Amino acid sequence: MVIHTDALIIGAGPCGLFQVFELGLLGIKADIVDSLPAVGGQCTWLYPDKPIYDIPAVPICTGAELVANLMTQIEPFGPTFHLGEEVVALQAVDGGFQVRTAPGKEFHAKTIFIAGGVGSFQPRKLHLDGADTLEERFIHYRVQDPTLFKGKRLAILGGGDSALDWALALAPDAAGVTLIHRRDDYRAAPASVAQLKSRAASGAVEIIESASARALRLDGDRLTGIELSLKDGSNRIVDADHALVFFGLSPKLGPIAEWGLALHKKVITVDTEAFQTNVPGIFAIGDICDYPGKKKLILSGFHEAALAAFAAKALIDPGKKVHLQYTTTSPLMHKRLGVAD
Ligand code: FAD
Repeated sequence: MVIHTDALIIGAGPCGLFQVFELGLLGIKADIVDSLPAVGGQCTWLYPDKPIYDIPAVPICTGAELVANLMTQIEPFGPTFHLGEEVVALQAVDGGFQVRTAPGKEFHAKTIFIAGGVGSFQPRKLHLDGADTLEERFIHYRVQDPTLFKGKRLAILGGGDSALDWALALAPDAAGVTLIHRRDDYRAAPASVAQLKSRAASGAVEIIESASARALRLDGDRLTGIELSLKDGSNRIVDADHALVFFGLSPKLGPIAEWGLALHKKVITVDTEAFQTNVPGIFAIGDICDYPGKKKLILSGFHEAALAAFAAKALIDPGKKVHLQYTTTSPLMHKRLGVAD
């Protein structure tokens, strides 16, 4: 089934979320797609707890708070979210654009807003011989179905929140959990570290610190263990039926580079009147766009979203005059915001 929409936003980082708002004020409902399973882009995935000081009129807020506030702000406009869907194909067709995601969703959109930031985030992989052929069967970079790990011996690699959260969550039903971390300090929340250490003290999980994976142990095409190099120069084998690898995410411009858009140093060239690309109807805002003087700041992306929305309105409703209206005083704005008496 093809989903028809006036506006498709690619990327649910802060700028993509604010694009929903600016389109909503002009009466345009948007669909928004992100390859990740949660909204917020860099704010959510790279610095949720760090304070931001340069959002106008918000003296201080964390990355997570900014995203939560944006989600509240766009609520009146009821965007449709398509998360965990990487956009892999975009091409111009009659009256708009055809878009396809990796899991296979198809859209027909009148206008496109690329708010892809530094690209779609991909899990950092385990670079060991044979690891790619075991992917999704015995080596996992995300947990889709926790029941797969019931009664199994699990090696969990990493020292961040995902590694510790899954070690804690899967241990009760697993045959054994070994957390392997290359350092002895953790990037995870202190409460999770404390919980993991107390479970290790009671023997419910094992922790191996200052160790890195050097080779996979296989029986045919099945994983049986992981060979580790320890900091003291010794080696060790951990028996494991599955390895869960949480080395963090790295950005990749990926398919966006193949859509026929004018690029400059891996970002999309736009004009500064409408933040439109070389393809009319495709706009690019936020970190992914480039123009003379561009600064990769959230506030720049918010401004870009406002102007792109006005330009898109003229394409979606041609011939209709669009007046700038203040949210403070305009009854139409109040109606759209759902705050009319
Ligand atoms: P992003 O936040 O990068 O979001 C882009 C989204 O698009 C991602 O979720 C990605 O998965 C998705 N995506 C990409 N390609 C695809 C695809 N093909 N299909 C589907 N989805 C896709 N800025 C400030 O203004 N103030 C600060 O104090 C500040 N502090 C920072 C601190 C750190 C540690 C970092 C790393 C950045 C900081 N920034 C700060 C920069 C700020 O986070 C970025 O400018 C902002 O996140 C850009 O927003 P965006 O929406 O353009 O892109």
